[in-house]
Amino acid sequence: MSRHRNVRSYNYDEAAQFIYSRQARPSAFGEPLEEEDYEYEEEEEQQPVVPSTQKPRVGADDQGGARDPPVKKTESEIVPKVARMTVSGKKQTMGFDIPSTTVEENGDSVNAIKKGAGLDETATPRTVDVSSKTSLPAAATSVAEEPMATQTPGRSTGKSKQQIDVKAELEKRQGGKQLINLVVIGHVDAGKSTLMGHLLYLTGNVNKRTMHKYEQESKKAGKASFAYAWVLDETGEERERGVTMDVGMTKFETKTKVITLMDAPGHRDFIPNMISGAAQADVAVLVVDASRGEFEAGFEAGGQTREHGLLVRSLGVTQLAVAVNKMDQVSWQQERFKEITTKLGQFLKQAGFKESDVGYIPTSGLAGENLINRSTLPELISWYKGPSLLEHIDSFKPPQRPVEKPFRLCVSDVFKDQGSGFCVTGKIEAGYVQTGDKILAMPPNETCSVKGIVLHDEPVDWAAAGDHVSLTVTGMDIIKINVGCLFCDPKEPIKACTRFRARVLIFNIDLPITQGFPVLLHYQTVSEPATIRRLVSILHKSTGEVLKRRPKCLTKGQNAVVELQTQRPVALELYKDFKELGRFMLRYAGSTISAGVVTEIKE
Ligand code: GDP
Repeated sequence: MSRHRNVRSYNYDEAAQFIYSRQARPSAFGEPLEEEDYEYEEEEEQQPVVPSTQKPRVGADDQGGARDPPVKKTESEIVPKVARMTVSGKKQTMGFDIPSTTVEENGDSVNAIKKGAGLDETATPRTVDVSSKTSLPAAATSVAEEPMATQTPGRSTGKSKQQIDVKAELEKRQGGKQLINLVVIGHVDAGKSTLMGHLLYLTGNVNKRTMHKYEQESKKAGKASFAYAWVLDETGEERERGVTMDVGMTKFETKTKVITLMDAPGHRDFIPNMISGAAQADVAVLVVDASRGEFEAGFEAGGQTREHGLLVRSLGVTQLAVAVNKMDQVSWQQERFKEITTKLGQFLKQAGFKESDVGYIPTSGLAGENLINRSTLPELISWYKGPSLLEHIDSFKPPQRPVEKPFRLCVSDVFKDQGSGFCVTGKIEAGYVQTGDKILAMPPNETCSVKGIVLHDEPVDWAAAGDHVSLTVTGMDIIKINVGCLFCDPKEPIKACTRFRARVLIFNIDLPITQGFPVLLHYQTVSEPATIRRLVSILHKSTGEVLKRRPKCLTKGQNAVVELQTQRPVALELYKDFKELGRFMLRYAGSTISAGVVTEIKE
């Protein structure tokens, strides 16, 4: 309980200044972050608490732990359903109509991956013809054709990346629809899985037969009310416990957008999974339970509503749709809706969300009310004239895609598929990648070739910033790649280090932070044990002026410069160069204790 009190009772006004906006540069970070001005005397090297030897990355929980999923999935337990990836599990791609089979048996999806990965053994080596797929301008096409005609899978052509006008191609792609990554957050049992499962059903992403099967199975298991949640909660254990543990990914479309949906676990034990999901999201749906006492439980007493809200904001999400769910439980009362939205509104504003970027939608995930179509319920429409949840999602502003920056992809999953090479999944944070490209993995600082790219289960020739992709790579040993590795352009590599300086905001912690304090660094998909190696200075919250050098400890609410030492190398960017890759969270004993930005990479 207490670990969540830490974040809940934190003064969010102060948090807001620490929060990065993907749309606009916030004023606090508009200030120079560098510390050149702060003279720092090199002290005796302090022995890090954790050994810096290269160990295989094992699963880490908040207690000191790891980055592996908390649950091992039994594939025979998996029911075929919508195309789905797990952030920390094996990629699973399943058809709608195929009766219960294991992933491997599902020919369609395996073929889709094979084709995309250039692994179809019967096929002749694939010639990458960017021009046919991407309608390059004539001049660019002629330059592109020659080297590509001789290209074989797995071999880099050394072609110039200028051949694609990625911005223009992105606009044409998906029938002109924008791709957007959405994470669903909220307290356990708020109805996240039911809401999104029902939304997927109503948008035609789960066919009637499959839905009927879930209904039958959930009834048999005595959990009929969970039928829609089963669309998303796929493992046997998740179903048994009735909670989402992993971050599932699914795709659905609105009028103007293609949405990659991430359903994050609400249970506090799974917040590390939620962080890695949210780190990849552009926008969020926050689900709260409108039932009497339930909203309060999620918001106040040990709930995750506040912590999730603060986390996603700190991780760069600026736009939010709040589904005030289970409104059927409170007879669709306007007063209850108002009470909840007023309380939440104050908090979200303090957490750094602009009022105009937050929408509140009364919903019933179970009844399917106000999900894709505006409700016709008289008791609701007498006072609510706003959009349905899907309409609100459709109105999100598209995120910026830094395609002009060097290529960066954070690995969220690694697995071996059929054929040569192996697959990595992750979100492209910047730049773009084409089949045949040589890319560099950091760590281990080794290059490999991109043999195939799969985006939303379709093989593609290129993918760009903002896309969640699966890459098939060759020329590297799979054991060298872990979740959290960064793939980058070898000409403009990212640095990997075990020591870096950062400006941090300390949340409401019970224990003062002293030199050598052990933490878990959450950075993109990385969750890495680290220590606070040095306390460099305490800064003025708004001016950034140094108030005290080499403090003995840091306490709640302070803004400080610290030096962090990670157990193993982590690929990082400076916040000033690369906002998306320069932010992190620190957790300790199950609580988020700090948000920070990287200011200097040491070694
Ligand atoms: P999650 O933990 O947030 O993913 O919550 P679930 O989707 O698993 O739902 C938890 C419970 O709340 C299940 O029994 C659902 O049937 C129920 N539930 C979800 N949405 C609604 C709703 O809109 N109305 C009512 N009455 N129950 C709901």
